[in-house]
Amino acid sequence: MTENRPAKPQTGRHNLDPHLERYAARTAGMTASEIRALFAVASRPEVVSLAGGMPNLAALPLDTLSAQVGEIIAEEGLVALQYGSAHGVPALRDQICEIMALEGVKAHPDDVVITVGSQMGLDMVTRLFCDPGDVVIAEGPSYVGALGSFSAYQANVVHVAMDDQGLVPEGLREALRQAEKAGQRVKFLYTIPNFHNPAGVTLAIERRAEIVEICREHGVLIVEDNPYGLLGFDGQIYPALRSLDPDNVVYLGSFSKTFASGLRVGWVLAPHAVREKLVLAAESATLCPPTFNQMIVSRYLASHDWKGQIKKFRENYRERRDAMLSALQQYLPAGCSWTQPEGGFYVWVTVPESVDTKAMLPRAVTARVAYASGTGFYADGLGSRQMRLSYCYPTPERIREGVRRLATVLESEMDL
Ligand code: PMP
Repeated sequence: MTENRPAKPQTGRHNLDPHLERYAARTAGMTASEIRALFAVASRPEVVSLAGGMPNLAALPLDTLSAQVGEIIAEEGLVALQYGSAHGVPALRDQICEIMALEGVKAHPDDVVITVGSQMGLDMVTRLFCDPGDVVIAEGPSYVGALGSFSAYQANVVHVAMDDQGLVPEGLREALRQAEKAGQRVKFLYTIPNFHNPAGVTLAIERRAEIVEICREHGVLIVEDNPYGLLGFDGQIYPALRSLDPDNVVYLGSFSKTFASGLRVGWVLAPHAVREKLVLAAESATLCPPTFNQMIVSRYLASHDWKGQIKKFRENYRERRDAMLSALQQYLPAGCSWTQPEGGFYVWVTVPESVDTKAMLPRAVTARVAYASGTGFYADGLGSRQMRLSYCYPTPERIREGVRRLATVLESEMDL
């Protein structure tokens, strides 16, 4: 009976796909992100890529790591190569509690669930809470990988604006009022409070209690995604939302930006009741996170000056941020504005109305510079006057050259 068949997915698959009729309806929400599509062109050596958000790992101590990997094999033996618990390696969960204390969070190791990067945390949390048609509130713009997870579970995203102090509390109140009036089920607020991806802004301290309070009042959970929290350029560490209301905040953490993204180790710190379900969800997704990689992270934390290492990362990113901000100031035409990140990887640029950043991108790539068009960071089609510029990876010289090329493209676009 055709009326019971799931809607044909709009995934860009063509008619030659013999499986077209078989895909689950939810695959309709699975489309390649604009940013992923960019990677192939942006990684050509002649192109200065300000598009990707790849952490710059050059400062990692490879000799130390190599010795530590050897020690793990020698000391842990086959245990390191065996399945482990879905919950994660206990020693690492203890260490994560110490890291969480830096953000004012009192955590119990039982409430920490290790994930394959915080991306898996996002996927699991959405899987646990969202039925098709449920609403997730997120900053506008928001992290593209989170939007991908929400869309894969057929949740509807309602964006709330930010200003230079982060998420605007009144905007959040209004979005919740509107959703309630429309009879929609809002499942959670997804927020990146520190050094936002892609906006580069940080939620002001004074706003934090207010955001937590609004969500409490409306019975809405908070999902706090904080991969950049320890990468504040002045070494400042903001109190996590989780520290203000532990029972109503699910916190997502990651070692991708503070250690090594390729190890794919992150964590979820959840209210006690949610943690059980998370472990079950994790088990059905991966059985357990990779034992060996968890041991690498754990040993690194136990025997290396990891705080000193983060300081090196911060200095490296700070130098690049400075290069980008001064190049933007020097080269970008009048009418452009941008955020002033105090940590993290990204600057969010707004261009004059006559420019469409998505349409301009192929011309920018021809001029040998790539950026991420703002449209990829909204679920509702906004963002064509914005772009995200990442300063994390290229050298300061390449950043300057990239911004100079970008300015030339923008100027000719504005003349059109
Ligand atoms: N959240 C945000 C805001 C991110 O920027 C990223 C990575 N770019 C992630 C989550 C995913 O990080 P990972 O899975 O590597 O921990």
